[in-house]
Amino acid sequence: MPKPKIELETKIKPYNQHSREGNSVMLRYFIWTIGCQMNKAESQQIAGYLDSIGHQAATTFSNADLVILNTCVVRQSAENKVLGTLGLLKGLKNKHPNLQILVTGCLVDSDTQELKRRFPQVNLLFKPGDFQELIAWGQKQGIPIEQRLLRGVYPERDSSVVPISSGLPQNDKKRRARNDTWMPPSPCAFIPIIQGCDNFCSYCIVPYRRGREVSRPLGEIMCEVEELVERGIKEVTLLGQNVDSYGHDLPGHPDLADLLNELSNIDGLVRIRFLTNHPKDMSLKLIDTVATLNKVCEHLELPVQAGDDDILRAMRRGYTMERYRELVHTIRRKIPRISLSTDIIVGFPGETEEQFEHSLSLLKEMRFDVVHVAAYSPRPGTIAWREYKDDIPSEVKKERLNKIEGLQVAVASEINSQLQGRQVEVLVEGKKKGKWFGRTRSNKLVFFEDAGDWLGQLARIQIEKTSPWSLVGEVKK
Ligand code: SF4
Repeated sequence: MPKPKIELETKIKPYNQHSREGNSVMLRYFIWTIGCQMNKAESQQIAGYLDSIGHQAATTFSNADLVILNTCVVRQSAENKVLGTLGLLKGLKNKHPNLQILVTGCLVDSDTQELKRRFPQVNLLFKPGDFQELIAWGQKQGIPIEQRLLRGVYPERDSSVVPISSGLPQNDKKRRARNDTWMPPSPCAFIPIIQGCDNFCSYCIVPYRRGREVSRPLGEIMCEVEELVERGIKEVTLLGQNVDSYGHDLPGHPDLADLLNELSNIDGLVRIRFLTNHPKDMSLKLIDTVATLNKVCEHLELPVQAGDDDILRAMRRGYTMERYRELVHTIRRKIPRISLSTDIIVGFPGETEEQFEHSLSLLKEMRFDVVHVAAYSPRPGTIAWREYKDDIPSEVKKERLNKIEGLQVAVASEINSQLQGRQVEVLVEGKKKGKWFGRTRSNKLVFFEDAGDWLGQLARIQIEKTSPWSLVGEVKK
């Protein structure tokens, strides 16, 4: 059973270490990231830009001049890790007063004064995606964090909008030509396409910390992906808290299906993924587009969160179990090889044993490839925190979580065992402990050993061993 997504911790590696003539300030930076893929993508972008202007990634906190914490407070366990790390850095700063500490991500709310009071060791707090703050701080410190590099990735809301199929804006072509030293370390890149969320699910802190939905203009995204493909990227994952809302706030209202169609025309781009979907917003047009476009992988994240209508209503999810079932059946009918992942919360306030059993039955019925399960933890400021008592004891939450994990291990074992002896296409992302690893189009993690250089290549792998979490095979040449 994979760990819940928020437990992901990432140490950002350098894209391309180099020095740059005339750059008077050379920093060693360390970015600590916890949370969702959006955080990971933003950290990768900050790292990419710091590299591209001559700074270098440090290997630990203790040999860095600049530390950036990209935080998550979606669950108490994540927040505890953030607070622990801030405590550790306080000690480090006492020993090295010149250490610069920057904090971003969902810990940063609108009351930054209060956060500054609580964490005097921090030099700058900036909201997720608010790179103008970072730029202004960098300029004051004499750190050349260049605005032109950031503009292309996080456009202002009213920046030039390019209609579908009208090509790239001229200034972005120039930007691509100038920014010629940045090399990604992996063939896969995360591309934020929409920031924020308008949904206000009752348990969720995201809309309060990341604000309302703001889509990036389609032309900007095209430009960024073309640039990445020129530098060797083969696969992009489009990111948003709710990608199905993409474009509703843009002139002409392009949607995610339009964006997928446009991206599919980019030569050299091999695979496209996107996450996260919201069951109430996923359209038939999008499902048909995924079914039709060869480059779009057969994998969807479709968080259900609970298998009981009363709990879904209290969560303010905006759909019923009947609607969710219909959606899954439609997806499976139109895309027969689809692999599906879901998220589920156990121990939501008032969840009875019977209501929990409904979630369990749903998972037995739907047989998802992956289930991310989390125990409910109240987040101050949310609707659920204000209106409901957190009345499910932690032992009961743990027990329910274990039951779901146990069930999913069995389901995923069965699903993956069907791949035994079959050949799959793997895009190779790197090497771990002497073994190459990569993912299938259906997002299964595959390991294999081979003396060749497979980084960034598509390998045909014959599967020899399966487990609920990954597959092992050998190359068919
Ligand atoms: Fe949070 Fe709901 Fe928005 Fe997802 S859709 S980010 S759970 S408010």
